[in-house]
Amino acid sequence: MKFTTDGLVIKENNVGESDRVVQVLTRDKGLLSAFVSGARKPKSKNAAATALLCYSHLTFTQTKDTYRITESEAINVFFDLRADIERLSLAQYICELCQVLVPYGVEGEEYLRLALNSLHFITEGRLDIYALKALTELRMMVISGFMPDLVGCRECGTDRSFPMWLDLSGGDMLCDGCKAANPQSGQFAELDKTTFAAMRHIVYSDIKRLYSFSLPPQNARYLSFVTERYLMAQTDRKFKTLEFFHSLQTAL
Ligand SMILES: [Zn+2]
Repeated sequence: MKFTTDGLVIKENNVGESDRVVQVLTRDKGLLSAFVSGARKPKSKNAAATALLCYSHLTFTQTKDTYRITESEAINVFFDLRADIERLSLAQYICELCQVLVPYGVEGEEYLRLALNSLHFITEGRLDIYALKALTELRMMVISGFMPDLVGCRECGTDRSFPMWLDLSGGDMLCDGCKAANPQSGQFAELDKTTFAAMRHIVYSDIKRLYSFSLPPQNARYLSFVTERYLMAQTDRKFKTLEFFHSLQTAL
């Protein structure tokens, strides 16, 4: 069977002498792993458009459970990303988030839209890199079923008694008073007014408005710290590309 769809290459592995196996987040069929014969040969017609971080128009041939990419045409290679190691490392982290959070066998449209928009803004370089990291982490968690409940305190319902406290494994919140009134087990992240408003925007706003927000650098860093802790608590795993991203921050 042959079909054509658009997809973002989120992982590439070399196999054999000149072949490549890629993982692609596709619009119509979600995550697919596919074989690209001869992709590393100097004259391969599929080399460029099946490389990591390329968004391409791809033709797949399916035999039982095996997919092969037989034709490809690049739509956006996000070329400028490669010039900045910090931005490139964030882009690679977004690819790893997709590998972990996108389930197999579901349509990829919503994930793909988020990933492509984030890559676009990371490449463009106008928005704060930590704000983009936080936005992508949290919104992807929302899409994949880890949406936190940011409506109000789970005990009294208030949403204006700061700080609010995000229950990292429970995914809901307590206000300061209710948290103090009852001894709590578990881990909480403190949400000041700015962080809380930013998180609500990321969780509840329409995709068209999602990237229209700005935060002072310090607030963006703190937001990123919170969304990352929430992601770690919910998924209970490590991300190699995230460790690399952080290692750059201390090195730069
Ligand atoms: Zn309360």
